[in-house]
Amino acid sequence: MMNQNNVLVELKGISKNYGQGQRETRAVENVNFNIHDGEFVALLGPSGCGKSTLLRMITGLMPPSEGEILYRGEPLRGVNEHATIVFQTFALFPWLTVQTNVEVALKARDVEPNARRERALKLLDLVGLDGFESAYPRELSGGMRQKVGFARALAVEPELLCLDEPFSALDVLSAESLRGELMELWSSKALPTRAILLVSHNIEEAVLMADRIIVMDKDPGRVVAEIPVNLAQPRQRKALHVLAMVDRVYAAVAGETPSESKELIGTAPGEGGKTQMLPHAPINAIAGLMEFLAEEGKRADLYIVGEKLGMELDEFLPAVEAVELLGMATLRGGDIELTSLGETFAATTILARKEIFAQRIRHLPMFQWIEQELRKVSSQRLPQEFFLDVLEKEFTPVEAERQLDFAINWGRYAELFEFDDDRDELYLTTNGAQELPV
Ligand code: ADP
Ligand code: MG
Repeated sequence: MMNQNNVLVELKGISKNYGQGQRETRAVENVNFNIHDGEFVALLGPSGCGKSTLLRMITGLMPPSEGEILYRGEPLRGVNEHATIVFQTFALFPWLTVQTNVEVALKARDVEPNARRERALKLLDLVGLDGFESAYPRELSGGMRQKVGFARALAVEPELLCLDEPFSALDVLSAESLRGELMELWSSKALPTRAILLVSHNIEEAVLMADRIIVMDKDPGRVVAEIPVNLAQPRQRKALHVLAMVDRVYAAVAGETPSESKELIGTAPGEGGKTQMLPHAPINAIAGLMEFLAEEGKRADLYIVGEKLGMELDEFLPAVEAVELLGMATLRGGDIELTSLGETFAATTILARKEIFAQRIRHLPMFQWIEQELRKVSSQRLPQEFFLDVLEKEFTPVEAERQLDFAINWGRYAELFEFDDDRDELYLTTNGAQELPV
């Protein structure tokens, strides 16, 4: 049971403003949460929601504008000696060896030379850098450099280890193995560390590692949900209860995007009223645009994006329309900006993308209609003619065919239904056979 005694960090009504006067902006607003002894907490949210700002305040690098931070029940003043941060970029001194890079942290805390050396060597061994003590950072891979970063942070034996997106600059495999090694050190209690606070914008990573996920959103930065992850370690990415948790966290993230607004929904084909036309955007154009935006930073000039992507306008504009329709980006005065959901989509795995995409398109009448019709028949199959006949009541024959083509292209990607090329039939897949979300 959690009680007051095992609370390590307590954030009480924390707000932070940057800048002054006219330029003052509110980075985070009224954030309240605790971190307990023994806990691994993940802070999850889109870029700009104030995750790094919170870490800086928790480690005492800067004070909050409002509210109070308690560490072991005492108000925090100045630098928090019990906490360290590992940053996304490795922040190593290029002119120092691996070992000296680790020792630097100890020197700053007046540890005497022999003890420094001993501790640095032990930690390098612990993170698997045995034999690389006298190498220079440039001689190491990204994954190994980040291990030096971990060793340096751990050298001061912090009670609270803060990790600011420590895996996001690494390639997929290095990130994966470093995550595994960290979890092993943490679970085996080989570290003196009492708690870990991981900043991430990767839902899967948070679900695989943390005991509790604090979901944030931006404008202003704030906490929107807290989700305990009561699953035994080690966790397998494909395990059903892990996937279910990933879904649940997605829902918490997605819940914050204004997407069912506007008149974009329309009616289902065959019903009275105007049917929402699907933009003529193939999935690969949509995914390409999202990835590009994620790399450009959250906001970009539409014209420049179009030019840089090298897409033809008749492909680019429908892709823009599609990402807006799906609530993944918003258009504002010639700029396109990813929503929280859009950033999540761009940053995550293909599998998780399919899930987000499925969740989004199921809100469109076109897909509700197709799924419903397929579910009505016991074989869960219908010839494409069936759908074309209805679509042709609202669109020209050419457009009706295009609409069905795009619906199939999107539906297949989302794994809601499949298309049988031999028989020209649509049929439900397992995903599609599940109940619609309410
Ligand atoms: P995250 O780590 O979640 O991406 P940050 O904590 O870096 O978010 O930033 C939160 C908000 O505060 C953003 O709007 C950012 O532009 C702003 N911000 C961060 N650092 C500064 C700073 N030193 N001066 C002014 N604004 C800042
Ligand atoms: Mg940050």
